[in-house]
Amino acid sequence: MTQANWAGNVRFGARRIETPADVDEVRTVLASAEHVRPLGSGHSFTLIADTDDTLLSTARLTSPPRIDAAARTVTVGGGTRYGELAPALEAEGWALANLASLPHISIAGAIATGTHGSGDGVGTLSSAVSSLEIVTPPGEVVRVGREDADFDGAVVSLGALGVVTEVTLDIEPTFAIRQRVYESLPLDVALAEFDAVMGAAYSVSLFLRWNDPDVVDQVWTKARGDASPRLPGGIAEAAEQVHMLAGVSPAATTAQRGEPGPWLDRLAHFRLSHTPSNGAELQSEILVPRAHAVEAIRAVRALAEDIAPLILVTEVRSMRADDLWLSPAYGHDAVGLHFTWQPRQREVEAVVAKIERALEPYGARPHWGKLTRLDPEVLAAVWPRLADFAALARRYDPDGRLRNPFLSFLDAL
Ligand SMILES: Cc1cc2nc3c(=O)[nH]c(=O)nc-3n(C[C@H](O)[C@H](O)[C@H](O)COP(=O)(O)OP(=O)(O)OC[C@H]3O[C@@H](n4cnc5c(N)ncnc54)[C@H](O)[C@@H]3O)c2cc1C
Repeated sequence: MTQANWAGNVRFGARRIETPADVDEVRTVLASAEHVRPLGSGHSFTLIADTDDTLLSTARLTSPPRIDAAARTVTVGGGTRYGELAPALEAEGWALANLASLPHISIAGAIATGTHGSGDGVGTLSSAVSSLEIVTPPGEVVRVGREDADFDGAVVSLGALGVVTEVTLDIEPTFAIRQRVYESLPLDVALAEFDAVMGAAYSVSLFLRWNDPDVVDQVWTKARGDASPRLPGGIAEAAEQVHMLAGVSPAATTAQRGEPGPWLDRLAHFRLSHTPSNGAELQSEILVPRAHAVEAIRAVRALAEDIAPLILVTEVRSMRADDLWLSPAYGHDAVGLHFTWQPRQREVEAVVAKIERALEPYGARPHWGKLTRLDPEVLAAVWPRLADFAALARRYDPDGRLRNPFLSFLDAL
């Protein structure tokens, strides 16, 4: 029985865990539970999936991928992990536009929290969804596609609408990526030329370790095909394969140094074959409108003395706007300021609250799957469709059987 999340900072309070394998079994579990929460691969750092009654693990909701070449989509069981889908797509000559840093997360769990990779021209992983099959707590099986009125509210669902049993995702013909990592870019240069740096390749990530708050330690670039990244002069490519954490072996990272490889072996930072069962770290992330990214990074730099003693690494990523109500990129292009922390939760939470307060003036949205102080007033201010989402959740789950304390901010809306 799974009792803890990946990071081990959440021990689920469920009295039972059920692992249904198909829609009928999902309906049976839902019918027998007073309170229930779907659980994907358990990679979230918050109590979002917690319940004191029934955890519905999606680990067996992994129906094999069905590719529709004409529609350029793939339909797959919601519990499937990206790391399982990706090789099946590649084998048929297809690709996803993007991946998160880790391919081991479940697809339905990732899209429920607005998970994203990086790329100025690329949307969140949620924005690749073209339709969903959802089993609601009353047992109805609902298929929601882009053409339906509920769709924009139903993708980033926080698991508050029902159990996503199938997901249909956009695909495109397979493509090659060359990954190169550059070292020691002065932060002032990165901020002065922010658009050029973040747009230097198909996907760009900035990594800062905060020993020196004036330096971006690494710039990871993932360029499509034969394209070369266009970075400001004077920044050198790392002489060998590197990890984003100081002193850690790069064995788990995807190939760098410009060695071409298919999308699935380059878009994630970590190799499919490397499966970390748990991690001695915590994560938080704040996402700001692209237009405020430079000011927001400056505001974070002003907190460097608070951040440095607890941080492992910060990652800055970009993403294209979408229309999904609870997406971090709802309504505007966005930039994510991610923090991987040492596992010292109380101290980390205090600094996370400080960062969130400092970034409030910039319309900052927290990542739903990472540590956040979850201030209901702030959430309502930055997600204009939050009340509409609460109404949608009441319609799909009229008795509130999917509610838990994490989601209580929805009750006041
Ligand atoms: C090492 C690591 C790296 C990460 N990298 C990134 C990254 O690059 N980018 C990023 O944005 N985030 C990243 N994250 C965060 C992660 O992507 C999210 O927490 C994501 O939600 C995890 O997916 P999961 O399947 O583990 O979901 P869980 O944590 O299991 O669940 C998350 C939410 O989804 C709901 N849910 C799960 N499955 C279903 C379903 N079938 N139907 C309905 N609701 C469901 C749950 O109820 C819960 O509310 C990372 C996390 C870790 C630990």
